[in-house]
Amino acid sequence: MNLQTSLMDAILTHFQDTFGQQFQVNAPLSRYTTARIGGPAEMFVTVTTAQELQQAAEMAYNSRIPYFILGGGSNVLVADAGIAGLVIFNRARQMRFRHTGAHVVCTVESGMNLSSLARQCIAKGLGGLEWAISVPGTVGGAVVGNSGAHGSDMASNVRTVTLWKPGVGIRTYSREEMGYGYRTSVLKQEQGTDRSRRVVLAVELELKPEPVDVLTARADGFVAYRKETQPGGASCGSMFKNPEHFYAGYLIDAAGLKGYRRGDAHISEKHANFFINDGEATAEDVRGLIAEAWNVVREKFGVEMELEVELVGNWQFE
Ligand SMILES: Cc1cc2nc3c(=O)[nH]c(=O)nc-3n(C[C@H](O)[C@H](O)[C@H](O)COP(=O)(O)OP(=O)(O)OC[C@H]3O[C@@H](n4cnc5c(N)ncnc54)[C@H](O)[C@@H]3O)c2cc1C
Repeated sequence: MNLQTSLMDAILTHFQDTFGQQFQVNAPLSRYTTARIGGPAEMFVTVTTAQELQQAAEMAYNSRIPYFILGGGSNVLVADAGIAGLVIFNRARQMRFRHTGAHVVCTVESGMNLSSLARQCIAKGLGGLEWAISVPGTVGGAVVGNSGAHGSDMASNVRTVTLWKPGVGIRTYSREEMGYGYRTSVLKQEQGTDRSRRVVLAVELELKPEPVDVLTARADGFVAYRKETQPGGASCGSMFKNPEHFYAGYLIDAAGLKGYRRGDAHISEKHANFFINDGEATAEDVRGLIAEAWNVVREKFGVEMELEVELVGNWQFE
């Protein structure tokens, strides 16, 4: 047995001893992404508290194992070859509410499902998150990507974000320190770098008391609009960000690519910024659609679109 193998065995044993059945090796990630695509995670752990989330990331960091936090898997395209190192599947969902004069502050762990949180707030007569009523994924993923819809976004609700920074520890950031912009934040900008990423442990959201029937009517309107304009099926949501002055879906449609197919993936007929897995699509199929859409839109309209979805894992680019 060489040194590397025995080191790896020791690391695996440490994770197994700490997390028991929550820990797996070679876990297929297609089960955990909304596109139903993705090869295996070399190591995979499900965490159910913010403390476990921090512990798993800290153990990986101290063992020099790369780690990746997976929320709802609704904004990532995972490579067919999977992800090396540790994938931490975040199911930390505790929350509490407190009144602060005009507002109510909800403190919520980052693995909470965003749309379920929005529903619970509406039922309590707390306004602010109705836009999130049918946005898939977790609070953590939404904090990273500044998710938004219907004219609002995460930045409009965030009061503070508690982060664990590798090698440093826990710190609470104000909304201003999060560097929010259209579908971006300081955390989103860490993507694609070699640095170990900061981990969102919990968030404080500011909500405003409003009548339940008003909030419900607003949310119902958003749900109906989404049903009318967006396709069902397995996808990562909007593939590209809207370029300044344009809608990505409109550009892809005008480029003649609605219905364009690679393998078992196609560009939706209903909304051209949605790329649908018809059942057996691979990440490579979807990457083929991305390349085609990007190239044709650039050729026809001179617009270079930027991906909203993050490509993660072991991609083999030629
Ligand atoms: C059908 C559909 C509709 C959608 N509609 C919308 C919409 O209207 N508006 C919108 O903005 N988006 C939309 N999306 C995209 C997606 O839902 C959001 O971007 C969502 O907030 C992503 O959250 P997630 O938990 O799934 O993140 P994931 O996809 O799991 O992860 C995304 C990134 O965030 C990181 N991350 C996740 N959790 C943490 C954490 N705790 N700490 C540090 N990093 C973390 C991951 O490592 C990864 O880099 C849609 C997607 C689908 C499939």
